[in-house]
Amino acid sequence: MNSLTRRLTLPFVAFVVAGSLALVLWIGVEEQRQSREQFAAMARTNAAFIRSQNLPASERTAQALGEVLGVRVYFLDALNEWTPPGSGWDKTSTAEYQALPAEGGVFSPEISTEAAVARIAQGRSLVLLRAAEPLTEFLFRPRTLGVLGAFWALSLALAWVLARGIVRPLRGFVARLPHIAEENSEPLPEASRTDEIGQLARAYDSTRTQLADERRAREQAERLATLGKMTTGLAHEINNPVAAIKLHTQLLEAEVAGAHDERLSIILAETAKIESLVSQWMFLARPQPPQLAPCDLADLISASVKTLTPAAAHANVKIINQLTPGLIVNGDRRRLAQAFDNIIINAIHAMSARGGELKIECRVTSDKGRKNIISFTDTGAGFSSAAIAKGTELFFSEKEGGMGIGLSVTSEILRAHGGELRLANAASGGAEVSLHLPAAN
Ligand code: ADP
Repeated sequence: MNSLTRRLTLPFVAFVVAGSLALVLWIGVEEQRQSREQFAAMARTNAAFIRSQNLPASERTAQALGEVLGVRVYFLDALNEWTPPGSGWDKTSTAEYQALPAEGGVFSPEISTEAAVARIAQGRSLVLLRAAEPLTEFLFRPRTLGVLGAFWALSLALAWVLARGIVRPLRGFVARLPHIAEENSEPLPEASRTDEIGQLARAYDSTRTQLADERRAREQAERLATLGKMTTGLAHEINNPVAAIKLHTQLLEAEVAGAHDERLSIILAETAKIESLVSQWMFLARPQPPQLAPCDLADLISASVKTLTPAAAHANVKIINQLTPGLIVNGDRRRLAQAFDNIIINAIHAMSARGGELKIECRVTSDKGRKNIISFTDTGAGFSSAAIAKGTELFFSEKEGGMGIGLSVTSEILRAHGGELRLANAASGGAEVSLHLPAAN
């Protein structure tokens, strides 16, 4: 037996035993009192009968009545004369007898005898005598056993409620506590209780959430550290040849103007993509504080839309930009442009199979400071529930060949600007990515 059960069982058993004894005693005393009351009532009824029938207080009457009632019967007058004489005792002067009210009652002239006295007339009483029933006679009668049974049933119910309400949840905690830091640990159902067990469950849950957050942050930091090592080496290896390709393409552009313009601009666009990718890696590996300056979000987004319109057209995606200039924020133009590019590229990818529309809108709120909320809503299949929960985690990707960097970088960029990125699905089913950015004063 574990120690909490033992701790509860011992006092509980003591309570049941003491309670049972007290009950037995109380019922016994009560039964005895009732029996004495009945005896007194018997004396009163018979005294009234003698009075109404005008029976003589004679030895014969006493004998006849004694046979009917099964007790010894006497008449006692004011001079302390007993009829029939020789009752075997003459203790009517006992304090108990003196204390009886005028109409009579029950008293014990001797330890083994009970006498019920009732007044017949002025100066004359009827006395019934019987052997006294000791308390033990009354202890285990059917009524006592019934009440005891009910008390035990209640005690068992109480034990069950205690076990269910305290011991069982505590056992649940003990079983779950070693797994609190695991990824799929679950909240405790007792958290909704208002008592101490509920407090314990809530403390467990908040520790669980805290540990989960810490685990996520640690994993992210580990991933970043790995990425940092990789990136620093790779960036150097990639940037140099890319810079050379870019430089020579630009030289060629000047030399062979007109003839190969389209192909050269494709090479430049592709090198720009490589540069942007490397720049994203570098940003994640060694994030720099943003270089803030007032800039218009509408201008930045228009520029991203312009750059990505050919890719969108190729995927049969129409970009509907509904922003109007004047959305001024304090931001890092290069980083913000990177964030918008990432979101638009993701939307184009999400709709590349069947084409669709990407709508860009803005609403300004003044809830907790003035904010611009830019939403990008597409008509693709929308985010999966895993992507909504973990889309901004580094390396989370559901795309074939995807690296899972875009949304993570975007979210970091927004955070560095005091804003946030939110992922949701629009009522129409497509993905809705919204950027919350504080407006410049
Ligand atoms: P990657 O594009 O390399 O997968 P991201 O971080 O840009 O990495 O995106 C993470 C995941 O979020 C994607 O793999 C995809 O599952 C989901 N996602 C992003 N944008 C959209 C979108 N517009 N519609 C549906 N899912 C999206």
